[in-house]
Amino acid sequence: MDNSKSISRRNFVKFSGAAALGASFIKLGSDALSVPEAYAEQAAMPKTPDEAIKKLMDGNARFVESLKKSPRRTIEVREEVAEGQTPFAAILACADSRVAPEILFDQGIGDLFVVRVAGNIVNPENYGVLGSLEFGTLALGASVIMVLGHSACGAIAGSIEALQKGTEFPGSINNIVTTIGPAVEAAKDKPGDLLENSIVSNVKLGVEKLEGSVPVLADKVRKGELKIVGANYDLHTGEVKIVT
Ligand SMILES: [Zn+2]
Repeated sequence: MDNSKSISRRNFVKFSGAAALGASFIKLGSDALSVPEAYAEQAAMPKTPDEAIKKLMDGNARFVESLKKSPRRTIEVREEVAEGQTPFAAILACADSRVAPEILFDQGIGDLFVVRVAGNIVNPENYGVLGSLEFGTLALGASVIMVLGHSACGAIAGSIEALQKGTEFPGSINNIVTTIGPAVEAAKDKPGDLLENSIVSNVKLGVEKLEGSVPVLADKVRKGELKIVGANYDLHTGEVKIVT
């Protein structure tokens, strides 16, 4: 995506018009951005997978330090993206109420294509998750998919309990726990904390499944148009660390 596409003509005219009227700044939500700053914000959309990952990690660093910009959460952006979305990243995150990607990556409306399911699992039988991620990348142009696990994940803890104590969970919860089973198996002989190791192992297995998913994702990865990364979010520090 080049600059001319990432800045809508409508918005450019709007910014230019404000400048022509002699306004020294445009009020955007609670932040007053100068016209050049607002223009730069629009132009800063990533053009490569690596730029997309950097934009996510930069946003997380702002969140950790409580220096949030809450970018692109204005009436203007809301109106602009109502006409079409071009999210720069797709995130597969846990449904956990404490792991909201737009907040912890400090991104705005239309920036992230988010799929959330307990345990951030990639289950081939669950076409909703895979199909959504394919749509976010193939149709909408996200150049990175991040599988995001988090500390103290209850879904992973449940899977450990199922394997260690034979606990059976009611209804479809048991299917989620069973899907996570291989990640716990892969982590059980590693030194350190079993839950932490299983969380990372579950993320890595998710990335592997997505990278090998034919025909859509595997093809885009092979062409260098898409990167799939795994990361882990620390509930206490707010920090996201890339794990694969
Ligand atoms: Zn979780």
